[in-house]
Amino acid sequence: MLDSFKGINLSVLAIVICVVGFSEHTQAATVLHAGRMLDMTSNKIQKEVTLYIEGNSIVDIKEGYVEPDKDDDLINLKEHTVLPGLMDMHTHLTMQFGPTIYLDRFRNEAADISFKSVVFAKRTLDAGFTTVRDLGDSHNITVSLRNAINSGLIDGPRIFTAAKSIATTGGHADPTNGMSSSLQPEATPKNGVIDGPSEAIKAVRQRYKDGADLIKITATGGVLSVAKNGQNPQFNQEELEAIIATANDYDMHVAAHAHGAEGMKRALRAGVKTIEHGTYMDEDVINLLKKFDAYYVPTIIAGKWVAEKSKIDGYFPEVVRPKAATIGPIIQETFGRANKAGVNIAFGTDSGVSEHGRNAEEFVYMVEAGMTPIQALKSATVNTAELLGVSETLGTLEVDKLADIIAVKGNPLDDITKLQRIEFIMKDGKLYKKPLVN
Ligand SMILES: [Zn+2]
Repeated sequence: MLDSFKGINLSVLAIVICVVGFSEHTQAATVLHAGRMLDMTSNKIQKEVTLYIEGNSIVDIKEGYVEPDKDDDLINLKEHTVLPGLMDMHTHLTMQFGPTIYLDRFRNEAADISFKSVVFAKRTLDAGFTTVRDLGDSHNITVSLRNAINSGLIDGPRIFTAAKSIATTGGHADPTNGMSSSLQPEATPKNGVIDGPSEAIKAVRQRYKDGADLIKITATGGVLSVAKNGQNPQFNQEELEAIIATANDYDMHVAAHAHGAEGMKRALRAGVKTIEHGTYMDEDVINLLKKFDAYYVPTIIAGKWVAEKSKIDGYFPEVVRPKAATIGPIIQETFGRANKAGVNIAFGTDSGVSEHGRNAEEFVYMVEAGMTPIQALKSATVNTAELLGVSETLGTLEVDKLADIIAVKGNPLDDITKLQRIEFIMKDGKLYKKPLVN
């Protein structure tokens, strides 16, 4: 080891040794005494573990409660289970649905939306979600939000964003749907509306230019758009292939919103990475998901939320209400079938439809539909890290990985609702919350 110091003068060497002392750790560490650990590399809980965090990384994990050095910061989590920060693959941090939302788009400035997104991002982090994939915003606000969080200016989850999603004319996510023609802005590739392969290519490149990390398309009709059909295919094969080939050129993957089976089949054959919602998934879709190693992002909570609100007179526009009432309640059963068939599942909620910060309620619905608690947790850690291509740094608690760590009191495998009460949150080595008694 000391060979590496050859050539450095002795007084520098003396200072280095003095600072390092006899500890294995080169700087003051945050030390966690965890009663239980779910590192997510196996299905087993490890008891009585000491984790060392330096900078933004996990630098050591030891069995038993090891006494910290005097400069170290000890956090007592002996009554808790530590696990990797949770990851939600379907959020909309720039909105939260309510009965006025269809009018809000005429009243809100981009700055109004931005201020709300700061609050929604914080609520998401406070719920233990240290990473999200945002699947559709307006004004590219989530690009700025991501950058502000990454620079340390505001607190929120690590964001991978699609910015404005891509639709076809009149399709789900055409931002001019339902507007009086005198008020409609032009629908163009720039604001996410395409017809034909050349506009599809332009829209993808525009998102790259805007700073998006990935592409979101609305492969079929959707529930909340002011349009009649909630499940018809809305892109042809050539458009889909143009989008995916172009996205791949820019190292971006493609997420496809889809309720109807035909739209899912086209999207999967063209090469999308994820199917969102997947409501009317049939056997063929399940086989294609497995064949192409794609992921299903269920968003059960969003289905339940729209079904519930559809019972309230006047909550939705009349064209939306029947779609919410029929499509919403089906998703949980679809998820149960897909899970049983062995499809890759990646956790996602569509938060922004349901309230931000309630993301972990999705775990309850997944377990209700037959998934084991450990598999549900894997879907929000290991699987999501794989989906995003960040398994080297995130998704498990291992030495040299980023310190995205959360903790709940007791054992979440015995009671999955414990994930709705996160008592310790660390993201990228920064402590955001710890138990009061410490
Ligand atoms: Zn969505």
